[in-house]
Amino acid sequence: MTPVILLPGKLTTNSQGVRGDTFSTGRRYSEAVARAGGVVVQAQPIAQTTAAAHELVARFDGVIIQGGGDIDPNRYGQKPRSNAIYGISLEHDELEIAVIRAAIELDKPILAICRGIQILNVALGGTLHQHLADVLADGESHWDKYHEINLEPNSRVANAMKTVAPKQSHSFHHQAIDKLAHGLVVTGRAPDQTIEAVELDAKTWIVGVQWHPEDDADTEPDQQNLFNGFVWAIKEVI
Ligand code: MN
Repeated sequence: MTPVILLPGKLTTNSQGVRGDTFSTGRRYSEAVARAGGVVVQAQPIAQTTAAAHELVARFDGVIIQGGGDIDPNRYGQKPRSNAIYGISLEHDELEIAVIRAAIELDKPILAICRGIQILNVALGGTLHQHLADVLADGESHWDKYHEINLEPNSRVANAMKTVAPKQSHSFHHQAIDKLAHGLVVTGRAPDQTIEAVELDAKTWIVGVQWHPEDDADTEPDQQNLFNGFVWAIKEVI
């Protein structure tokens, strides 16, 4: 059976060739999953879809959470305290949190990327650094740069990537995990100790990464291996 993976979409304005707004998912995620032998289907961020998240997730084999704007700080009990916060969407937050909670309840594998690792942490009760530049000495070092990632040996992410030091990890984030949610385990860090990978302490393959493996997966085997490991984890249970 071909693994079929649900990916919550984003509201996108000014789409060419379509009258009115559209919902979008990144092409790179679909293509990386396709190379691994899976298929991606989009869930649209509207209230009725969010309300049906549990039923919807039950019909799919796994979930990917894609990158995007910031999560409303109220979701983790804080007021906005940085002018760098951008792109907040209550609809995106609600759908992704509902899908993540449903997937965990249903033992469906999850690959949560960039904003995805952040909302995985928030969905489970953790908090975020609202702006990394406010807490790191070297400021904006995670915005559109390649940096090293040090992975925990024998973690799900290291086993999938077949290395503890993946090549070409594209970092493009201004927030990161602060207080880790109960149940999550840190499995990867940047050289400055920023949390870059987590997994859920569970029998199901549930992994979050702060960088963008999809950006280089077409040319870098380490990055493609993360998608391969995710799809193989699904194939083991379907
Ligand atoms: Mn980073």
